[in-house]
Amino acid sequence: MMFKSGTSILIIYTGGTIGMINDPETGSLAPFDFDHVMKQVPELNKFGFDLTTITFEEVVDSSNITPEIWIHLAELIERNYETYDGFVILHGTDTMAYSASALSFLLENLGKPVVFTGSQLPIGTLRTDGKENFISAIEIAAAKKNNQPLVPEVTIFFENKLYRGNRTSKHNADYFDAFRSYNYPELAKAGINITYNYSAIHYPVVKRDLHVYHTLDPNVAILKLFPGITTEVVDAFINIKGLKGLVLESFGSGNAPTQKWFIEKLSHAVANGIVVLNVSQCSAGSVDMGAYETSLGLIEAGVISGNDSTTEAAICKLMFLLGQNLTKQEMEVNLSKSLRGEINV
Ligand code: ASP
Repeated sequence: MMFKSGTSILIIYTGGTIGMINDPETGSLAPFDFDHVMKQVPELNKFGFDLTTITFEEVVDSSNITPEIWIHLAELIERNYETYDGFVILHGTDTMAYSASALSFLLENLGKPVVFTGSQLPIGTLRTDGKENFISAIEIAAAKKNNQPLVPEVTIFFENKLYRGNRTSKHNADYFDAFRSYNYPELAKAGINITYNYSAIHYPVVKRDLHVYHTLDPNVAILKLFPGITTEVVDAFINIKGLKGLVLESFGSGNAPTQKWFIEKLSHAVANGIVVLNVSQCSAGSVDMGAYETSLGLIEAGVISGNDSTTEAAICKLMFLLGQNLTKQEMEVNLSKSLRGEINV
């Protein structure tokens, strides 16, 4: 692995704890300007890279991230794609897995690293995890072998591990080790050296030009099943005005109540053009519709298997595909296959 002199990385700061400071009036953490972050990590100069930063005009806590922001990020990468060797996106941890999933779909034929990172403690604090995450994310974004990027994917680097973005979920609100990728191996581990798991990284067989999509359809919802779910709850979801896609978070390997009313309501929703995608409430493992009697009704209703998708990737994939005005059949085909390594089929 080598770093060419003249390696250039674009850092996009969206907000999040990494750049926050304590507001003395409220005692809460609030986003601060990016200069603050850069001044805190003078070590970055040692890389000798050309580092350019873009700070969002209005930095946001990631709870305020929107599909419009995802499109804006994709367009920033599109505009700067030829100029930079890699991209680092600093982002709040709360919705980082959603943003990384969305970007993976919006950036087709990606041939350069797009690494999301952030931190659990602001970068200026003594025990911050932000410095380590930030420095390693930049190293990964710049890493090349035979002049080719080592990780040409949308990824999340956090607490020594690099994950495929659309396979990741935030699993811990308190500890530095905040992310997990339950259904896909880590792409790299940072110890004394950064060790890459080459067989898990996607390398394009045929190089194609980056294609950036500019539309996402936000008319989607997530219905999490629970024992005792009532007709009123299901009705409220499937009658949402304009709803086009529904992620159904089912039990275990894709199971749901077998009651007649439940299956009828889902059939009705599908007949009315709502795409229903089944993902498991379990963090690890896959939906396997038909394995149990309790998922047969879902097949009859026209529900589509989300396989081993995270909920985050599933909802973003629905927004992405619905944004393309596909036919029902095209929609089903695309949902059932892996577009960016988000499912194992
Ligand atoms: N609330 C913050 C955010 O997601 C948390 C973090 O950055 O870790 O923006």
